[in-house]
Amino acid sequence: MKSAIYPGSFDPVTNGHLDIIKRSVNIFDEVIIAVLNNNEKSPLFLVQERVNMLKEAVKGIPNVSVEAFSGLLIDFAKQKDVHVIIRGLRAVTDFEYELQIAQGNRKVSGEDLDTIFLTTSLEYAYLSSSTVKEYAKYGVCVKEFVPESIIPLLEKKFKDR
Ligand code: ADP
Repeated sequence: MKSAIYPGSFDPVTNGHLDIIKRSVNIFDEVIIAVLNNNEKSPLFLVQERVNMLKEAVKGIPNVSVEAFSGLLIDFAKQKDVHVIIRGLRAVTDFEYELQIAQGNRKVSGEDLDTIFLTTSLEYAYLSSSTVKEYAKYGVCVKEFVPESIIPLLEKKFKDR
């Protein structure tokens, strides 16, 4: 059985992330979405909110599970006995950062963890959680960018602020 972990902040999940998830399950038997609990990034949504949003968004996609993790990704992967990480690449600007992280993870894991990159579908190449938050904050409709279930949660977050 080939398993992979798709890690990220997912603050919030976008249609770009979902596209990567759907394509990943065609390659792997099992995909674990690992939601980073990282307070340094001061996320808009709590980690449990992000996990719940993802669970709702991936309903109906088989062989996907969603979990929160904190600390090092290599430790989470070891704990799950998974040896492959999936990351999405949008543009050259993602590449340098991602390459560094991937090589670091491989080295520190004792060559036990490889990263596979899926290039974004062109229609989502411009899309990021940050831009979605910026749009939602100023009342721009984000219907095209995120799963439908996320929209009321985004609206509520900005109303509460
Ligand atoms: P992080 O905070 O770790 O960068 P994100 O939640 O922003 O995590 O993204 C998780 C992963 O999804 C990363 O590999 C990122 O490059 C990828 N990703 C983000 N947006 C898109 C998109 N629109 N299309 C494809 N991949 C994407």
